[in-house]
Amino acid sequence: MNTPVLFWHRNDLRIVDNVGLTAAVARSPKTVAVFCLDPAILERDDVAPARVDYMLGCLRSLRNDYQDRGGDLLMLQGDPTQEIPALAERLGATHVMWNWDVEPYARSRDRQVLEALTEKGIQGKGHWDRIMHAPDAVMTGSGTPYKVYSPFWKNWRSHSKADPYPAPEQFESLTAAELETANSETIPQLRSLDMTWDGGFILDPGTQSAVDTLDSFCTQSIEAYDGDRNFPALETGTSKLSAALKFGAIGIRQCWAAAEDMGNQSRSDEGRAGVTTWQQELAWREFYQHVMYHFPELADGPYRDQMKNFPWENDEEKFEAWCEGRTGYPIVDAAMRQLNEIGWMHNRCRMIVASFLTKDLIIDWRWGEKYFMQNLIDGDLSANNGGWQWSASSGMDPKPLRIFNPASQAKKYDPDGDYIRQWLPEIRTLDTGTLISGNITPMERQGIDYPGAIVDHKIQQNRFKQIYKAQRES
Ligand SMILES: Cc1cc2nc3c(=O)[nH]c(=O)nc-3n(C[C@H](O)[C@H](O)[C@H](O)COP(=O)(O)OP(=O)(O)OC[C@H]3O[C@@H](n4cnc5c(N)ncnc54)[C@H](O)[C@@H]3O)c2cc1C
Repeated sequence: MNTPVLFWHRNDLRIVDNVGLTAAVARSPKTVAVFCLDPAILERDDVAPARVDYMLGCLRSLRNDYQDRGGDLLMLQGDPTQEIPALAERLGATHVMWNWDVEPYARSRDRQVLEALTEKGIQGKGHWDRIMHAPDAVMTGSGTPYKVYSPFWKNWRSHSKADPYPAPEQFESLTAAELETANSETIPQLRSLDMTWDGGFILDPGTQSAVDTLDSFCTQSIEAYDGDRNFPALETGTSKLSAALKFGAIGIRQCWAAAEDMGNQSRSDEGRAGVTTWQQELAWREFYQHVMYHFPELADGPYRDQMKNFPWENDEEKFEAWCEGRTGYPIVDAAMRQLNEIGWMHNRCRMIVASFLTKDLIIDWRWGEKYFMQNLIDGDLSANNGGWQWSASSGMDPKPLRIFNPASQAKKYDPDGDYIRQWLPEIRTLDTGTLISGNITPMERQGIDYPGAIVDHKIQQNRFKQIYKAQRES
């Protein structure tokens, strides 16, 4: 009989293209998969029910994938630093394997698990799987981490990329006695975790749905991505794979390889540009993960010194209006309604609402960062923090001051007002010019329940610039 090896799933909820799982199976065909629901994560005040529900769906799908191959997915609830070593001991496992995570909480947790395993004489080992290249593998010429995306992309791109790892074909099942000792629980329903979500999913949970989505995106949309990605009304302008990438329902190597194939097949410069631009987004994702790994202090606040004591005005009523999509700026409100209703927002709109919160309402970007985490199905510390620090001009980005004009953004990226009409039905009958500019007269407001603008963009833009300049000089 083979000795069991425990494979601990976290943000890698798939069996295909899984580096750590491949290594575990190479060590023992009796690889036992486990997931541990961690109360320290579930009880955080920035947890999003939509995200947890998507994750639970991925877990059910993952368990089916194991069962189809003779195995199973064990389910634990509790502190992983105790639960994982204890389970390994009960099963008599010689090794516990997992895939590394860059987030500060996960890194400290993994160190504790490693120590507890060592004390028990069990070997623990992590692998890099979420990203194509380990954080220390892509460094500047002087051996320091990159702080700027463009040179990172140039270097990162030049490294050869691994092919996707095939899924193990078969797993050796646990005996009845081992199963009993494992004390596995069922995968809970969302409501038993005291959460509810009825907004559906932008992408069905699980690997099959993610693979199908990648396939249709690559065959139908990727070649037009360079032009289409900025238009939020376009249903297929972007891949909508972010939640699958966040929870690892799909592997990054699978995404990269599918895009490479399309790049090789494409017959037009425009098509190849679309592929490259999408690959650059995958690299943005990876850049922010490398940055979080090397500069974990980013999770706690601004990178730039001048933003550390910034006099944010933090008006709670204005923040509430922003959260509810009632600022009187149609493109901002449409985007926030999209987030509240489906737990996802188009990237262009994430940039618009983040600029509006920080530069027009002069509210601390961390309020927005948290609200996003409380609602996004794809909420991810590295990408979210990176996006917010970029928008607030508090991050590493070399061009520090960026202020989006909501009306100009709407004119450029929602020229027919389709996106605004979809998410702000109460103003859909207004003419397109009015929708885009947001210049809705009191007469037009009569009869439609839509508020006047809570601030004047021009005035606020100037105020922000003055405060920013004073801050820099001081
Ligand atoms: C303020 C702000 C907050 C954000 N918060 C998150 C977040 O919590 N989680 C998240 O996954 N993305 C976040 N993003 C990045 C981006 O908006 C989403 O990844 C994207 O909208 C997801 O849609 P998609 O899957 O269709 O992307 P596509 O355009 O198809 O891109 C493919 C993949 O590349 C990655 N990606 C694309 N753009 C970025 C980016 N700018 N930064 C990092 N990764 C990127 C995502 O994994 C995405 O699924 C944020 C951006 C901003 C401006």
